[in-house]
Amino acid sequence: MRATTIHAPYDLRVEDVPDPVIKDSTDVVVRVLRACVCGSDLWAYRGESARQPGQRIGHEFLGIVEEAGADVTGFASGDLVVAPFVWSDGTCDYCAEGLHTSCPRGGFWGSVGSDGGQGEAVRVPFADGTLVKLPADAASDDHLLTALLALSDVLGTGHHAALGAGVRKGSTVAVVGDGAVGLCGVLAAKRLGADRIIALGRHTARTDIARAFGATDVVAERGVAAEAAVRELTGGQGAHAVIEAVGTEQSMRTAVAITRDGGSIGYVGVPHGSGTGVDLSVMFDRNIALRGGVAPVRAYIPELLPDVLDGTIDPSPVFDLTVGLDGVPGGYRAMDERTALKVLVKP
Ligand SMILES: [Zn+2]
Repeated sequence: MRATTIHAPYDLRVEDVPDPVIKDSTDVVVRVLRACVCGSDLWAYRGESARQPGQRIGHEFLGIVEEAGADVTGFASGDLVVAPFVWSDGTCDYCAEGLHTSCPRGGFWGSVGSDGGQGEAVRVPFADGTLVKLPADAASDDHLLTALLALSDVLGTGHHAALGAGVRKGSTVAVVGDGAVGLCGVLAAKRLGADRIIALGRHTARTDIARAFGATDVVAERGVAAEAAVRELTGGQGAHAVIEAVGTEQSMRTAVAITRDGGSIGYVGVPHGSGTGVDLSVMFDRNIALRGGVAPVRAYIPELLPDVLDGTIDPSPVFDLTVGLDGVPGGYRAMDERTALKVLVKP
């Protein structure tokens, strides 16, 4: 089969790799119908997180089960399924608690020795604990398939951020980050009943999506000016709930600065850089809570899926560029240059 591999920073290739086969009786092989490029893939692309030459890449996909191992009980050949961005056994204490990302037998697609999502097919370990079945008729609905793909990462991650930020009915929410996760954070906050949602961003194509997803205000300023603008919008107090979906020291500083005393920050931006932007003494004095981390999206798919299926929420606008498998390297370039928000891959 063909799959995307990464050889060095800015050196992605689409090449022939061995076809995935059932290795363990709990595996399935999924033929990929839709995949996408994540903002977090760019850290590998830019060389800021290390990869071995030839390693696979891509961690968001949905597709059709092609073959199931002898001990797989929940899936059969022909099933339409979505995969969260980590696999997990579904049986350990962490999985039972809904923290599938801490599963000791779990792992990330594209890690050394495993298939990545940006290819024609994927061997899925612990299929029963990992995959979620989708209605078969969704396979012929192009728009719905695109919306469902967001369940593999960005929608669940935005939801995790909103939960971490303590969003509830009537909350005032601020969202730092205008990437797909930040936008899905807006969607998730709206779904959880937020009254006011302030989106920080200055690219109108993105802030237009934020407004469509439920943002009531947009702050285009950056840094200290953005902090002042949010304070002005909130009677000088800041937001009850702040979603941090970038992961830089500056974005965390902004998040802390715009959180109301007693409020919470839900952080899901993958941290990078040496500093954290977190000053514990400030957070202590102002009683600000910080929750979040890598999102256990497998735990959220069953809750979010019905709302995507019936159109209550539609995250599909975050995908603004579609490529075939051969177009994946160009898709990364477009996201790296910020000419694309999120790239959909149709292998
Ligand atoms: Zn587990």
